Amino acid sequence: MNHAELVALDHHYTLQTYARNDVDIDHGSNATLYDLAGKKYIDFTSGIGVLSVGTAHPKWVAAITEQAGKLAHISNLYYTQPYAKLARELCRRTGMAGVFFGNSGAEANEGLIKLARKYSFDRYGPGRSTVLTLNNSFHGRTITTLNATGQEALHNYFFPFTEGFRYLNAGDFQALAGEEGKGDVCAVLLELVQGEGGVLPLEKDYVQAVAETCARNNWLLLVDEVQTGVGRTGTLFAFQQYGVTPDALSFAKGIAGGLPMGGFLVGEKCRDTLGAGTHGSTFGGNPVCAAGALAVLEILDEALLKEVGEKGAYLRRRIEAMALPSLGRTRGLGLMIGVEVAPGYSNKDLSARLNRAGLLTLTAGPGLRFLPPLTITWEELDQGLAVLEETLRGMEEPEFSDEVRQ
Ligand SMILES: *Cc1c(COP(=O)(O)O)cnc(C)c1O
Repeated sequence: MNHAELVALDHHYTLQTYARNDVDIDHGSNATLYDLAGKKYIDFTSGIGVLSVGTAHPKWVAAITEQAGKLAHISNLYYTQPYAKLARELCRRTGMAGVFFGNSGAEANEGLIKLARKYSFDRYGPGRSTVLTLNNSFHGRTITTLNATGQEALHNYFFPFTEGFRYLNAGDFQALAGEEGKGDVCAVLLELVQGEGGVLPLEKDYVQAVAETCARNNWLLLVDEVQTGVGRTGTLFAFQQYGVTPDALSFAKGIAGGLPMGGFLVGEKCRDTLGAGTHGSTFGGNPVCAAGALAVLEILDEALLKEVGEKGAYLRRRIEAMALPSLGRTRGLGLMIGVEVAPGYSNKDLSARLNRAGLLTLTAGPGLRFLPPLTITWEELDQGLAVLEETLRGMEEPEFSDEVRQ
C-alpha cells in the first residue's frame, strides 16, 4: 500500500474527527521514524506525550511480549502480578497511598471527580459537589470532562453536559478566595502546566495558595497529570516540583509507553473513599499494559529524569538562539515545551510544514508544542533542530500591514 492508497482507505471508512497531517508513519526506533515510502522523521511529539520511552524500546518490547505470551487479560475479578507491582512502584515513587487503573486520561479525570464527590458526600451529605477548574484547561472529551474543561469553545453541541463545574483564572487569588464562602465546592482540579491550552506553567505561589485553600476547606486538591506526568517535566510527576501534595492525581498518556492506560493515585485521606462496587473499568490495569508501564518506570530512573531537564533546556536554548522570524519565546518544563509563533504566521501552517519536512511537531493554543520521547538522544535532538532551522529559515516573511508593523 502506498501513501495515497492509505489516505483514500482512511477517508472512505473512518470518521474524519481529526485534522491529520498528510503524513503516514510505519515504523521506527526511539525518536527516529519512517513512513511507508522510507522517508525519515524525527519525533518531537511522542504521539502526544504517549511514547515516553520512544518507539520500540527493547526493554519495553520484551516486557509486553513476554506478558502477552503469558496472560493478556483476565478482568479485575482476579489478582495479577503486573497490576499489584505497578501500583506499588507508583506509590513508592510518589508517596501516594493507592492507585486505580483505567484506560485513558478522560476516564482517569472522571475518576477524580467521582472520588471528590463521594469523599464530600460521605462527610457532608449532598449539595457539596462543585469542582473548580481553570480557564484554558483541558481535561478530556467525555460529556463530563468536556464541561470540566475551562474552554467555552468546547461547551457546544453536546448538551446537556454534566453540571457542577465553575472556572477560575489561573493566578486570580481573589476569585479563589471568593469561592470559600459558597458552601458547594468539593474540589479543585488543575493541570500544573496547561498542555493543550498552550504549555502554560502555573505560578508556584498560586498553586500553593490553591493547596492551602483546599486544606482549609477540606476540598480535595486534584491534579491532572495526564500530560505532565511520567517524567515529562523532569520529575516523575510535576507536583514534585511545586511543593504541594495533591489529595489525588490522574495520569495516562506516557504511563504504559504507547499502550492505552490511565488511572489515578490517591493520598491517605481518600484511600478508602471508593469502596467495592463504586468504580470500575473492564480493561483497567490490563496485565500487558501494566507490564509495559513497569518497564517504562524502570527506564525512567533518576539519571534519565535529570537528562529530561537538561535536554529541555538545551532544546529551548537552541531554538531561541536561532532567532527565526516565525518563532518567538519558548516556555515549559522539562521536555514539555511551548514555542510562541510570531505575528503573521500560523502555528498550524508551521507545524504542517515541519511535519512534511521530516520533523513531527504539535500545536497547543496559539503556539507550537514539542513533546519528544524522554529517551530522545542528543543526536536525534540535533537532527530535529536542523530540520526546524532549515524549514523555517527558508520561509518568506509574512506581509504586514503598516498597522501591524508598528
Ligand atoms: C490528553 C489529556 C487528557 C485526555 O486524555 P485522553 O486519554 O485523550 O482521554 C486529559 N487531561 C490532560 C491534561 C491531557 O493532556
